[in-house]
Amino acid sequence: MSHNEQNKKSGLTEDQIKKLNGLSESEVKEKILKDGYNELPSSKKKGIFHIIFEVMKEPMFLLLVACGILYCVIGDIQEAIMLLGFVGVIIGITVYQEGKTEKALDALKDLSSPRALVIRDGERKRIPGREVVKGDYIILAEGDRVPADGVLLWGMNLSVDESLLTGESIAVNKNSGNENIEMERPGGDETPFIYSGTLIVSGQGVALIKKTGMETEMGRIGKALQSLEEEKTILEKETGVIFKTVFIIAVILCLVVVVVYGFTKGNTLDTWLHGILSGITLAMAMLPEEFPVVLTVFLALGAWRISKKNVLTRKVKAVETLGAATVLCVDKTGTLTQNRMSIHTLYANGSFYKVADNRNEALPENFHCLVEYGVLASKKDPFDPMEKALKSLGENKLNGTEHIHDDWVLAHEYPLSRELLALSHVWMSPDGNNYCVAAKGAPEAIADLCHFTEDQTKELEINIQKMAKEGLRVLGVAKSSCKLDKDLPEGQHDFDFEFLGLLGLADPIRESVPSAVAESYKAGIRVVMITGDYPATACNIARQIGFKNHDMFITGQELTTLSDDELRLKIKEVNIFARVVPEQKLRIVNVFKENGEIVSMTGDGVNDAPALKSAHIGIAMGERGTDVAREASSLVLLDDDFSSIVSAVRMGRRIFDNLRKAMAYIISVHIPIAGMSLLPVLLQWKEMILFPVHIVFLELIIDPACSVVFESEKEERNTMERPPRTRNERLFNRKTLILSVLQGFISLLFVFGVFRIALYLGQSTAEARTLSFITLIISNLSLILTNRSWTENMFTTLKSKNSAFPWVVGGALLFLVLVVYVPFMQNLFHFSSMHIADVLIGVGA
Ligand code: ADP
Ligand code: MG
Repeated sequence: MSHNEQNKKSGLTEDQIKKLNGLSESEVKEKILKDGYNELPSSKKKGIFHIIFEVMKEPMFLLLVACGILYCVIGDIQEAIMLLGFVGVIIGITVYQEGKTEKALDALKDLSSPRALVIRDGERKRIPGREVVKGDYIILAEGDRVPADGVLLWGMNLSVDESLLTGESIAVNKNSGNENIEMERPGGDETPFIYSGTLIVSGQGVALIKKTGMETEMGRIGKALQSLEEEKTILEKETGVIFKTVFIIAVILCLVVVVVYGFTKGNTLDTWLHGILSGITLAMAMLPEEFPVVLTVFLALGAWRISKKNVLTRKVKAVETLGAATVLCVDKTGTLTQNRMSIHTLYANGSFYKVADNRNEALPENFHCLVEYGVLASKKDPFDPMEKALKSLGENKLNGTEHIHDDWVLAHEYPLSRELLALSHVWMSPDGNNYCVAAKGAPEAIADLCHFTEDQTKELEINIQKMAKEGLRVLGVAKSSCKLDKDLPEGQHDFDFEFLGLLGLADPIRESVPSAVAESYKAGIRVVMITGDYPATACNIARQIGFKNHDMFITGQELTTLSDDELRLKIKEVNIFARVVPEQKLRIVNVFKENGEIVSMTGDGVNDAPALKSAHIGIAMGERGTDVAREASSLVLLDDDFSSIVSAVRMGRRIFDNLRKAMAYIISVHIPIAGMSLLPVLLQWKEMILFPVHIVFLELIIDPACSVVFESEKEERNTMERPPRTRNERLFNRKTLILSVLQGFISLLFVFGVFRIALYLGQSTAEARTLSFITLIISNLSLILTNRSWTENMFTTLKSKNSAFPWVVGGALLFLVLVVYVPFMQNLFHFSSMHIADVLIGVGA
């Protein structure tokens, strides 16, 4: 493909494009009303019936219904009705919970879905892809997903990956008009046509949208993006295993209970029915049905909480991994720094000039050419902060001189490449008969283009160092020319460049970054800077933000020569990677992974995608990030700010802690309940202590306690002062498991003790049951309280705010009073009248 061919543009000229006004917002509104949103019907919306159906498949639900039926058979219609009433309540709670989690996830989905840059009301606007309408002009850039079908009006080096539609994985060049395969495509009535869902691999373009939503090719063949099922996370697997284990134990014990009960109590139909009832009661008491619920709720709401820190979750898995991160790899420019550049120092013809110190002064003649060609090597309407800085300097200092060329026409652009960090613009001047070529880029690259001798290179390096040591980003500028009648050469090396000088750009660090770096260090997390910039510049920035080892670095070139083993060793110390190209990030991620680290990596471009995918936590930049980068990432950083990543890590740790506490609580709270259901059978007492209704009542406290109270519990004081949890650390390590089992047995001991003592003191079984149930509720509430914090004592925890906790406690106590004192309820719960005074007297006696 020759460059001339590549250069041929379809439809409009760049100037015509600039004058496009686009639709007005009111026209857009009409079109949306008429054609609907630009989206394909998604299959996954859960209706309320769907949710109810899912609840009905739950074991807990089935057990309750079984109980209800048994009671009917035995003849306790009242009990049956009440249990079925509870069934309704449980469905209600589940529907509410599901609704809440779905909503949280949906809101996030909307925000992270592909976006489109459109021209409307004469302005460029970034909008969600679903709001694109027919007649919109959209601007396409490298890494974008095309939001709808349309005709390309203008393109520069534009190539598109259409594999999603054609299965063909080779990018299609879209500039060369009719000779494309477009003609064979249905719908390809005007060429070149671009299709919704395809990917801009390189170049830029402007397209007019012709078809949206279901009318697009994508809609026609009924394909939807992102229909991938997410694989199960470690946590899901782990809780799955625990759930299954407990389930099996429950079933076995349940059978034991039925058999023991049936045989020891007379082997009649009635005893067998009662035996089954106690068996089911035990099963209900033991079933850890909260596990999966808690996991889903915590992760979904966690994603929502993290979104408040300006970090969107695309894959829920990231929420659990975040808290375990041990290395944060971040881009320097824009993430650690503000990416707001200004020209600070110039170097030309052997002398330096500090622009920053002489803002109001005219630019000395010596530096005019440097700035002139710097501007020529930038876009007319620049987006890149470096080019913006150049343009504003040019406008400030050179306006009205012969150095500003608004009327020149861009003939060709040689883009930046990983082999050569420099770009050139070829201009056609209106009068001359030469092309004028302006190049700018990394100084080494420019020196290379100018065929510097060794001595010249050495001298240049000294000057680069001088500027880089101040933390400036250094660019070289060069000029060349070429006869108009000749074909433009293949590459930049084919021009004869003349060196013009150096530009030093200042990019201030983000204010919040030093403290965020310090926080990470305290939390045992490494921070690693990855940049395409010059090493000395990177080191200076690293020093400013408080990096450890800020004088050690590895360059991209070294990366290619180091063996994996050498790199694995070096990477343990070095925190700065300079002059690396995005493709090298993948290697860095993988080496860190081999060292056993949990790696997070940021990125924004097409070439960052493999590294983002490979990292445990891929983070795409919200503002600059391309759709490709987003699709490869699990998180999207909305404000591009490093400190938001650290806040998200902090939140991730809190979520994991809370999850652990909730799970520990669930285990411990089930022990007294299960124990009180099992013991009477094993000890062959005449009567059961707990009935299904008690279990359901307890579940009604346990459920909101674990999903709401623990979910909203605030972080532990030392959240960011301890090292990350180790790579394979389970949710339940031995310590937590032993502790929660111990807690469970202690409260079982209390409940059981109260029951025995009450009987011993001459109370009836019903009275003893009442007392032990009260004890059970209170120990349940104390289990919630102790598990709310694992580092503070109960009294401090009691004082710390958790808005759900008082409601759970209040609700539990209120209902307790009702069931203990209201005769009708008393009856249902098999309680007898209780007067605390009597009890106390009884105990006293
Ligand atoms: P970073 O990782 O800091 O964002 P980049 O990968 O964007 O760095 O850029 C790497 C180097 O490429 C820069 O230091 C600069 O020398 C060169 N470069 C980047 N963008 C441009 C540009 N628009 N014009 C000229 N040179 C550029
Ligand atoms: Mg950059």
